[in-house]
Amino acid sequence: MADYDAHEVEAKWQRVWDDAGAALVGEPDPTKEKSYVVAMWPYPSGTLHMGHVLVYTIGDVLTRFRKRQGMEVLHPIGFDSFGLPAENAAFKAGGHPRDITEQNIENITQSMRRMGWAFDWSRLTSAHEPEYYVWDQWLFLKLLEAGLAYRKGAPVKWCPVDQVVLANEQVHDGRCEYCGAEVEAKNLEQWFFRTTAYAQEMLDELETLEWPERIKAAQRNWIGRSEGAEIVFHVEELAEDVPVFTTRADTLFGGTFAVLAPEHPLVERLIERSPHAEELGTYVKYAVAKRGEERAAATEKTGVFTGFFATNPANDARIPIWVADYVLMDYGTGAIMAVPAHDERDAQFAETFDLPIVPVIDEDGTMIDSAQFTGLPAEEGKLAIVAWLEERGLGKPAISYRLRDWGWSRQRYWGSPIPIVYCDACGAVPVPYEDLPVLLPYIEDYKPRGIAPLAGAEDWVQTTCPSCGGPGRREVETMDTFVDSSWYFLRFTDPHNAEAPWRRDLADYWNPVDQYIGGVDHATMHMIYARFFMKALNDLGLIGFREPFAAFFANGWVNLGGTKMSKSKGNVIGPDEVLDEHGADALRLYILFIGPANEDMDWTETGLEGIVRFTRRLYRIVSEVAESSSSSSGGAPPANDLSRKAHETIAKVTDDLGRRQSFHTAISAVIELLNELSRAGVDDPAARLAAETAVSLIQPWAPHITEELWQKLGHERLWESPWPVADEPQLERETFELVVQVNGKVRDRLEVAATTSEDELVALASTSPKVQAHIDGAQVLKTIVVPRKLVNFVVS
Ligand SMILES: [Zn+2]
Ligand SMILES: [Zn+2]
Repeated sequence: MADYDAHEVEAKWQRVWDDAGAALVGEPDPTKEKSYVVAMWPYPSGTLHMGHVLVYTIGDVLTRFRKRQGMEVLHPIGFDSFGLPAENAAFKAGGHPRDITEQNIENITQSMRRMGWAFDWSRLTSAHEPEYYVWDQWLFLKLLEAGLAYRKGAPVKWCPVDQVVLANEQVHDGRCEYCGAEVEAKNLEQWFFRTTAYAQEMLDELETLEWPERIKAAQRNWIGRSEGAEIVFHVEELAEDVPVFTTRADTLFGGTFAVLAPEHPLVERLIERSPHAEELGTYVKYAVAKRGEERAAATEKTGVFTGFFATNPANDARIPIWVADYVLMDYGTGAIMAVPAHDERDAQFAETFDLPIVPVIDEDGTMIDSAQFTGLPAEEGKLAIVAWLEERGLGKPAISYRLRDWGWSRQRYWGSPIPIVYCDACGAVPVPYEDLPVLLPYIEDYKPRGIAPLAGAEDWVQTTCPSCGGPGRREVETMDTFVDSSWYFLRFTDPHNAEAPWRRDLADYWNPVDQYIGGVDHATMHMIYARFFMKALNDLGLIGFREPFAAFFANGWVNLGGTKMSKSKGNVIGPDEVLDEHGADALRLYILFIGPANEDMDWTETGLEGIVRFTRRLYRIVSEVAESSSSSSGGAPPANDLSRKAHETIAKVTDDLGRRQSFHTAISAVIELLNELSRAGVDDPAARLAAETAVSLIQPWAPHITEELWQKLGHERLWESPWPVADEPQLERETFELVVQVNGKVRDRLEVAATTSEDELVALASTSPKVQAHIDGAQVLKTIVVPRKLVNFVVS
């Protein structure tokens, strides 16, 4: 027998599938159960990597499994080809983003096809193509009309040396990633989506989603709901009320100073009038530039006294107002009442700047030194104080969310243009729907220079105002790539529609996505934004559902030598190398055999070799069975150990691929079945059943070799053959009751392991003392065995 040639066999079946249109999905069949499987579309920022191999193999295995279970399955692919990842890849490669992106898409597509992933390639969709981003622009205009998109000034991080706006990730310890200069804050007009409109709903509906608990927890934390009170602190010298959010109204009498976040809207006015204006101004400029997480986590507290005082509404005490960077604008109102006796960070600050510390809760949680509230338990006192403030118009119960509106406009080139024209007479005017798309011009100098690169494309910028016909200038900022990825799974359902972003019935039929798959790094931003989009589009009457992803599988990282594979660390194994050496089936099997796919996994060469050996053994043993005359095809074989093992494996793999989504244990089960077949030999009456079962069950992981073997076994088109169903009576129980008879009379009942062979059953039965008493001295003429039931000794 010739050795198995993965390359030849894989190329052959990929051609067959392409010719048969095996992965194409047309108009859905409404009589079938549908399943929409989407693995997050990739950034085309280089070549195919192992993270891709993992995520798309999971999607492909589930797709193939569900199709063979009779479901209508859609499994599309496209590229998240706009935005920073693609643009940065172009910087590195030294070319234009469009050229580099399209080259990368071509490379990745080729590798993807070699992997044998059953994507519906006819639906290939990429964000940088006008036929896609025209709908970004269209949807933006819809959201704008609905008041869910707006423009406002907001602070950005700014490098004064490079003259660029920096993303959060480009700031390290308050310094620019490129030149090391201290980053400053700058106020810039930007576009936002009103994500906060759905904060509570996003929180509530998390409960309805089949997502891993850690992902839900990450979203809950991102939305950050807290219940408390908004309390008014009056600043007399400015005739200004400063609302403060707190969850600890019970500690109000211990509030000895107030702190504003450096971004707080009042700070600018304070700086103008403060006796410490210079110190304050400098502090604010640099504090704003630091990253929120760094500020919140800093152990050394910094801050500046403003020279102003606020009135504590509990006791009318005049308390100093400070500006300090440990208070973040993202939380509450961006202003706090500091209670150093009962808050650790306030305490550190008070100690650093020698501010008074006044305890108002004792060790038993009872309020002290709190006027008429003294003696109340803190929880009770909290409500009483808020009610008392409310009566006097100085406070009210309030709920605060950490979630902020999403600022998504970027001073970058490689993104969808925002369809807005600025006119001196009319202001910001939307480009009419019929004039979309606003095409992104091909400019040579796309690098950011402090102003958006598109500002340099003067011919493009100058236009006429759609409203008055006078001169206008186009918006030069572009959309962040998270806008593209907020709705791409809708476009996949109707990807080439030139009249509308999607056909409503198709989008509603396929969505929500039944199985979404991707990395935990997208648990918050992308998956929050997509949820916002679905709620907004539903409110606009454009879709019939409000949640994008009914179920989510969060895959782990592929590590090598204990750390995540990454080019910068130089510990990368490229999928193409493995494909060249071992072919796709081995790689697809191995990536899901290493360990649980939702945990981090460590790639080893020996592990991969083990799987390669398994595929060769599968090929050899199944070929032997196929060629063996004693295992002819046809009726079900009598139940025996091997047939029971086959049915047990069907049940196990079906459960693992269904409810449990445990891919590595399913592969192990098939390996065990193959071992059992190998032990039993090709002459076992169930050899053919076992061989067919092993091939059929491992097909979702190894579609090429199994299709070849299926043909050898005399069948066709495994890819669309029904998924095997376990024969219930053959599912092994752990033990069964063996009835032992002598001449047809029951003499004993034995609890016997289900895996016990017939010979062993006879041996066990004959050694039973009760049975021996009846056959003692007699000659056993005949032994009748009914598998899994009975042994009858016929004696003279
Ligand atoms: Zn710089
Ligand atoms: Zn105008």
